[in-house]
Amino acid sequence: MKGFLLIVGSIVPKLPTKIINMLLAVQMATQRSLNTLFPGLCFVCHLPIRDSHFLCRGCLEALPPMPENCCFHCGTTTGQPVFGCGSCLLDNHYPDRVYFPFLYKEAMADLIIRYKFSDCTEWTENLVHLTMERVGDHLIWEDLDLVIPIPLHPFRLLWRGYNQSALLAGGLAKKLHRPLVTNGLHRIKMTRPQVRLNQKDRQHNVHNAFLARRCVVKNRTILLVDDVFTTGSTVWSATKTLKKAGAKRVVVCCLARVDH
Ligand SMILES: [Zn+2]
Ligand SMILES: [Zn+2]
Repeated sequence: MKGFLLIVGSIVPKLPTKIINMLLAVQMATQRSLNTLFPGLCFVCHLPIRDSHFLCRGCLEALPPMPENCCFHCGTTTGQPVFGCGSCLLDNHYPDRVYFPFLYKEAMADLIIRYKFSDCTEWTENLVHLTMERVGDHLIWEDLDLVIPIPLHPFRLLWRGYNQSALLAGGLAKKLHRPLVTNGLHRIKMTRPQVRLNQKDRQHNVHNAFLARRCVVKNRTILLVDDVFTTGSTVWSATKTLKKAGAKRVVVCCLARVDH
């Protein structure tokens, strides 16, 4: 609905710049005063916080980290240091590398659900910061050319108003000093939400769901960004499309991976 409101907003005649600047200054001053008088509450333990938008330091440190020793290509926990598990080594359509700073459970699952569906877009900076803290060194080492988010279908984007993966990708692109490219990969199929589907149906649902622009992705090392990695069907389908269009390497970064 937010997208619809934005369109309506753009039709309304514009206010004079002087009045807009005055309103913005009042809004910023009010926000600063409110932050001092009424600090935010931690999303998990509800204690007051001053230095973060959503979690206190204790709860931040308690977020479930990814286990060590995961397959480089699909993130499956292997229990021992290996580059790729058996199934990934047999299929070159898997990402060249996947990174997940957290497991999708407990507070992190609640946090992502609210970030995705409840307009908590002001958390982007914090989530990007956490991601960089945990996997930033690896991402820098990957020597990336572009950052591309998993796109939403235009109808879903209009209904939801924002693409949380694009917000995360934008934040990461800024930190990594790499361009954010939103026209390199398009979702051309209106897929069903993956959450209620089993693995086979998920793969079928996202089969041929994406279209990549060859002139943008050819011979590029791409950071593909999504919020949650569940069974991997979405990022694998997008990776396959990017590689067919000539991408040199596809590195995936998702905020969290479902524990399986
Ligand atoms: Zn807390
Ligand atoms: Zn694997």
